[in-house]
Amino acid sequence: MHENIGLGIIISGPSGVGKGTVIKALIEKEADLALSTSYSTRAPRGNEVNGTDYFFVSVDAFNKKIANNEFAEWALVHGNFYGTDKSVLENIKSGKKIIFEIDVQGAKNLIKTFNSTQTNYISFFLLPPSMKELEQRLENRGTENKKSVEIRMDNAKKELEDSSCFNYTLVNDKIEDTTKEILSFITGKKEK
Ligand code: 5GP
Repeated sequence: MHENIGLGIIISGPSGVGKGTVIKALIEKEADLALSTSYSTRAPRGNEVNGTDYFFVSVDAFNKKIANNEFAEWALVHGNFYGTDKSVLENIKSGKKIIFEIDVQGAKNLIKTFNSTQTNYISFFLLPPSMKELEQRLENRGTENKKSVEIRMDNAKKELEDSSCFNYTLVNDKIEDTTKEILSFITGKKEK
């Protein structure tokens, strides 16, 4: 990898497509990649840790950050607020390679922010092998009830229309293949 050039790496796609799993594999393979910690107003799940998985904040605290213009992007996702602090822009400019696991609307806004601040970035949209498979993955995850799976499937159908806003669209069938492909784009071994 280019040692001193910072890069924002956006990994987006519908809920359940496997963004988190792909990112975990990327970070295991490449030690110089770091994951951005987002702000969220949702309640922590199971063994999630404040400051590691998310900065868990109240809706009031989140709204204050919006009013103070502290977010590079924010979005209301499946009923909760999520946002990325602007400090990531400086971190990328100082040479860090930062991964963003982010919903589609937020990713589109982050792309706008990166463009307007001349921040170096690359963006990926992950697709499920099929909509049936996406539904299966959401159900197997065990974190969503039936209603929540339905909401996420409805959102997914709309989100797929935005895939053209991203540099690359990849079908996330086998984690190993998707990870290899993303790494080859990041390291510049493969042309668009
Ligand atoms: P979860 O609640 O399952 O952790 O995340 C729900 C959704 O919010 C996922 O699609 C995730 O990618 C997205 N998300 C996580 N962090 C951010 C963020 O900082 N900004 C936006 N816009 N979406 C985020």
